[in-house]
Amino acid sequence: MRGGRTPGIGLGLLALCFVLALSPAGEPVQSVEGGAEVEVPVVALTFDDGPRADTTGWLLDQLALREVPATFFLVGGRIPGNEDLIRQMAAQGCQVGIHTYDHVDVTGLNQTEFDLQIGKTRALLVEILGEGSYWLRPPYGFVSEGVRAWSDSPVVLWSLDPEDWKDHDAQDLVDTVVEQARDGDVILMHDIYQNSVQAAVRIVDALEEKGFCFVTVEQLMARQGVAPEAGAVFPVRP
Ligand SMILES: [Zn+2]
Repeated sequence: MRGGRTPGIGLGLLALCFVLALSPAGEPVQSVEGGAEVEVPVVALTFDDGPRADTTGWLLDQLALREVPATFFLVGGRIPGNEDLIRQMAAQGCQVGIHTYDHVDVTGLNQTEFDLQIGKTRALLVEILGEGSYWLRPPYGFVSEGVRAWSDSPVVLWSLDPEDWKDHDAQDLVDTVVEQARDGDVILMHDIYQNSVQAAVRIVDALEEKGFCFVTVEQLMARQGVAPEAGAVFPVRP
C-alpha cells in the first residue's frame, strides 16, 4: 500500500500528523490503511548548534513546504542577527530550546555559571518570542545531578544519533536514519552543516514515505504520557 506518493496520500498523512500532534497525552493514533488499522510511527527531529543563517534558513523553508515541525536547541551566542529565523521557527510550529550561550559542557559549571549560560540565552528568546518554556539540551549530552537539579525544564537528550558532525556524507546520514528510525525516536542532527540539512530534508521525505509522522519533542512527550518535569531526562536512556 506504499507505492508512489500521490497528492491524496500526502494530504492524508499530513492531516493525520496534524491530528496526532494535537491529540491528548498517551492516546495512540491510528490510521486505516487497506482496511486494517495500523499505529502511526512518530519521531521528533531535533537540531543543535544553530542558528546559522544560510543552513538553518534553507532548512526552515524546506520544512515549511512539507508542514513538518522540528525542535531547535539554539546556542545563545549565535542568536543576535538571526532573530527573524527564530520568529520563523515559532511561526512554523517548531519548538525552540536552549543549548547554552557558549556551547559549554554544563557538567563543568557551578550553579552561577550554569544559570548565566541558560539565563542569557533565555533572555534573548523572551525578547524575540515572548515568555515561554525553553527546554534545555546540554551540549554533548553531558548531564550531572547538579544540572538536573538546577534545570527549570526537562533535559532533552536523544535516542538516534547519526553523528552528522563526524560523517558529513549526506547519503550515509539518510541511510542510517531511515534504516534505524523507530516509533518514539528523538533524532539528533545539527543545522549548521550543509550536508546535515540536506540529509534532514531527504530523511523527512523518506520517513514520510514509510508512514512516519513528525512532531516536536514536547508533542512526543505528551503523546507518550511523559510529564515535562524540570530536571527530568528525556528520552530515558536504557
Ligand atoms: Zn552542540
